[in-house]
This record gives sequence, C-alpha cells and structure tokens, in this order.
Amino acid sequence: MNNAHLLLLGGTSEARDLANALSRHPLRLTVSLAGRTRAPAAYPGQLRLGGFGGADALAAWLRDEGVSLLVDATHPFAARISANAALAASHASIPLLRMERPGWTAGPHEDWQHVPSLEAAITALPRGARAFLTTGSGSAPALGSRPDVTLLLRAIEPLKDLPPHVDQILARPPFSEAQERAFIETHAITHLVSKNSGGAGRAKLDAAVACRIPVLMIDRPALPPDGHTIHDSATALAAIANLLALDTASDRTP
Ligand code: NAP
Repeated sequence: MNNAHLLLLGGTSEARDLANALSRHPLRLTVSLAGRTRAPAAYPGQLRLGGFGGADALAAWLRDEGVSLLVDATHPFAARISANAALAASHASIPLLRMERPGWTAGPHEDWQHVPSLEAAITALPRGARAFLTTGSGSAPALGSRPDVTLLLRAIEPLKDLPPHVDQILARPPFSEAQERAFIETHAITHLVSKNSGGAGRAKLDAAVACRIPVLMIDRPALPPDGHTIHDSATALAAIANLLALDTASDRTP
C-alpha cells in the first residue's frame, strides 16, 4: 500500500468517476462533500460531509491528516470551495489538481445571451416572461426582484420561502431532450436560464433550439489561478499517478 493520502473534493459525477477509478489503487482516499443533499450518491474511500470552516481550517485539516495531494473536482460554479482549496493547498505546501468539465458552446442555431450571474439573467428578462430556471437550489436569494415575470425553478430538493412569482418544480436529473421540450411547451416557457455547467445536461439547450426560445447563459465564475486544471478523469488519473508516484501498472488491485 502506497502511504499517500488523497483528499478529493467532490459533488459532481466526474468526482465520483475519479473516486471509483482511484479506489482500484493502493492509496488512502478521502472524499469530501458539502453535505447539501440528504442522500448523496455512494463514493468509495472514506467519506466526510460538511464544510471545513474556511481556507485556514482546510489547510489545518490537510496537515493534520497528512494529505499529500488535494484534488478539487467540485462543480464549475462552486467558486468558494475552489478558492479555499487553492489557498489551503498553498498554505499546506501540497500540490493541487483541479478537475473541471469543459463548458458548453453555442452552435450556429442557438440563441444565447451571456450573462455574468443569475441576478443579471433575471434583470435581462422582459416583462411578462415565463422563464425556466435550471440553476438549482442555490438560486433562491436572486429571485425576489422581478414580480413582473414568472419563474419556474427546477430543484432536486424543496426550497423554502420562495416569492409568489416563483413556482418550484421538483425533479432529479437526467432529463432527455423530449422531456425538456415537453416541459417548455406545457408551461409556455419563453426563456431558459442556465448555468454554463457543461457535461451531460445539454438536453435542455437542444430543447430550447427545438422550441425556438432564447437562452440566458450564465458564464462560469473565474477560477483561482493556482493549481493545474484538467478536464477528464483519465487525464486526472494519469496526473495523480505521476504526482503520487503510483505504479499504475503493478499497484492495481485485482
Ligand atoms: P461553494 O459556494 O463553492 O462553497 C460554499 C462552502 O461549502 C465552502 O466554503 C465550503 O465550506 C463548503 N463546501 C463546498 N463544497 C465542499 C466539499 N466538496 N466538501 C466540503 N465542503 C464543501 O459551493 P456550492 O456552490 O454551495 O456547492 C456545494 C457543493 O455542491 C460542491 O461540492 C459542488 O461540487 C456541488 N455542486 C454545486 C453546484 C453549483 O451549481 N454550485 C452544482 C452541482 C453540484 P467551508 O468554507 O466551511 O469549508
């Protein structure tokens, strides 16, 4: 057993894929989740839930637990934990790898307006719009400002205290293009509001093209400059093997 300890900051399907791939190698793996969902998907390795208490506390955790490599595979919009990870890795003097799925790009028939935030997207909606928000559970604070529009917010778990012009739609991904199109048509949606999350959720964008509705696309927050960013789990695995001197040919357990 290699005595390396890897802390993987998760919360994405890519993190889960990487954790599964890493579980075949002889190292100590800890996966950290924010603890937002009541029934998180299963991960191999040791699971810890909840925030660390900021960058300094994360750095202390890295030192106390003898972590040799920090891998940040959180969502592209989870900017705070990524900033904390960059600071903490630097304070604990360990390498940081950032894994981030590529963003979506608009095809020739796609009508996207780029906006920097959910607040900007809501502001850009015309009076009377019926907007489908696929921006998730963290959206609530931005929704109060436009009672002259109807917002249909899709979330996995119920949100409390939403303003009256916000309808909540509880549903769990994945969604097919046919499901997204049916939703847009049934609810007479005029605009789609999406984060540029990238990955498998593109069906809603294809449905917007089919239904000829415009998309307000929220651009990704800026990443901290530290660390090395890679875009897929195979490359991440190779980089990790290299950094931790894992012998991926002979260390592999059957
Ligand atoms: P965030 O704003 O960047 O983080 C807020 C705080 O939550 C962090 O400062 C940290 O608390 C804690 N935290 C976040 N991710 C953590 C992790 N993996 N392990 C331990 N603590 C974590 O993050 P967020 O946007 O609320 O997202 C929370 C989680 O949901 C992330 O892990 C992300 O991968 C996942 N997610 C986010 C989105 C999205 O659109 N933002 C979408 C899908 C999944 P402390 O400062 O106390 O350490």
